[in-house]
Amino acid sequence: MVDFTLTEEQQSMRELAHDFAEKEIRPVAWEYDRDATWPQEIIEKAWELGLMNIHLPTEYGGPGLSYLDGCLIEEELSWGCSGIGTSLGCNGLATAPVALAASDELKREYLGRLTEAPLLASFCLTEPDAGSDVSGMKTTARRVGDKWVINGSKCFITNGGYASWYTVYAKTDKEAGHRGISCFVVPRDAGVVVDKHEDKMGQRASNTATVTFNDVEIPANHLVGEENHGFKVAMMTLDRTRPAVAAMATGVARAAMEFAIDYSKQRTQFGVPIAMHQAIQFMIADMATKVHLSRLATWNSAVLLDQGKRNTIESSHAKRFAADSAMEVCTDAVQVYGGYGFIKDYPVEKLMRDAKILQLYEGTAQIQRLVIARETLLPRRVAQPTAAPA
Ligand SMILES: Cc1cc2nc3c(=O)[nH]c(=O)nc-3n(C[C@H](O)[C@H](O)[C@H](O)COP(=O)(O)OP(=O)(O)OC[C@H]3O[C@@H](n4cnc5c(N)ncnc54)[C@H](O)[C@@H]3O)c2cc1C
Repeated sequence: MVDFTLTEEQQSMRELAHDFAEKEIRPVAWEYDRDATWPQEIIEKAWELGLMNIHLPTEYGGPGLSYLDGCLIEEELSWGCSGIGTSLGCNGLATAPVALAASDELKREYLGRLTEAPLLASFCLTEPDAGSDVSGMKTTARRVGDKWVINGSKCFITNGGYASWYTVYAKTDKEAGHRGISCFVVPRDAGVVVDKHEDKMGQRASNTATVTFNDVEIPANHLVGEENHGFKVAMMTLDRTRPAVAAMATGVARAAMEFAIDYSKQRTQFGVPIAMHQAIQFMIADMATKVHLSRLATWNSAVLLDQGKRNTIESSHAKRFAADSAMEVCTDAVQVYGGYGFIKDYPVEKLMRDAKILQLYEGTAQIQRLVIARETLLPRRVAQPTAAPA
């Protein structure tokens, strides 16, 4: 049965997240963007309210909410500010590999830490010479006795400067390409160095850092899953986190659309509010369609996960479409504002900058198309129900 009717609990959770975004995030979002302020207080409040670590299983102290629940929360938080939303949601990316593949002992220790205090974790895959093609990574992990010794550097790591532990991908077999990558949990106090905080175009309230490992030693049991199976863990992680990025994109697009609607009713040119001009109406109509379809694709990709089904193509559809749509909607929102849209005193300028990163991180728009093309040309399974024909 196809039914996206939200339960009463889901509606209340969505309201809670919306209320938080409206009262705690929106009032500071533009100022934090201007000054690239780290939203520590907001993180602490969101953690208290249960708006972080939402998928962590109950046996490790988390609320164990569904992927659809997560999307409801992510859309609202990013409606408030997607930079702050990224800071709040990043634990989901760092913890997914651990929840998927780590030993019970490791889960208890590291997932447990995040539910006991408002701490952060980061996901470290990207390197200066290995972005879309992670098989080119140079970070290594060498087994020495009962330890792993990690050497290398990861760039563009969200929350990297504030994380208390890191999920790190490293080569354990240098000759084996993506089949030689393993995944590890590395506590910050093992000697991780934070080198550089990036000065970004958008999502400026989020932290993006370079983290370096110089002979960092971790216990042997900090390997996540099997040796040389890290690439698979990373890909399974992205299937689980791309719906959340799509939900964030939906939130950003919705915010831009709402600003554009309000402005178009207030701004008068040629004797009428510009909303009376059909060219403006059509831009607003296209925004509404894109927000609606982004949300449907997002929810579809999340519900498949909640049903225990593979969602690789659906999460790429959702991430690709919602991110591209957010960029288009924000660009058009600036157009609706005319010259004022280009000025920092008006809200849509920030949203257009913020939207850009949604087409880049967690797999660029081109990489999503590669996944979609591969899954479409060489399907690996019997087609699952989707909201629309694939
Ligand atoms: C703000 C921010 C936060 C981030 N957070 C994290 C994080 O927390 N953890 C982490 O590990 N990484 C993170 N990243 C890294 C991000 O995931 C990468 O930037 C992204 O995957 C692209 O890699 P790249 O920048 O090296 O670009 P490249 O891979 O060099 O790509 C450059 C261009 O070539 C295109 N391209 C590459 N290969 C192909 C191909 N085969 N076919 C067609 N086009 C192709 C790309 O789409 C892109 O347009 C973050 C990045 C930013 C900017």
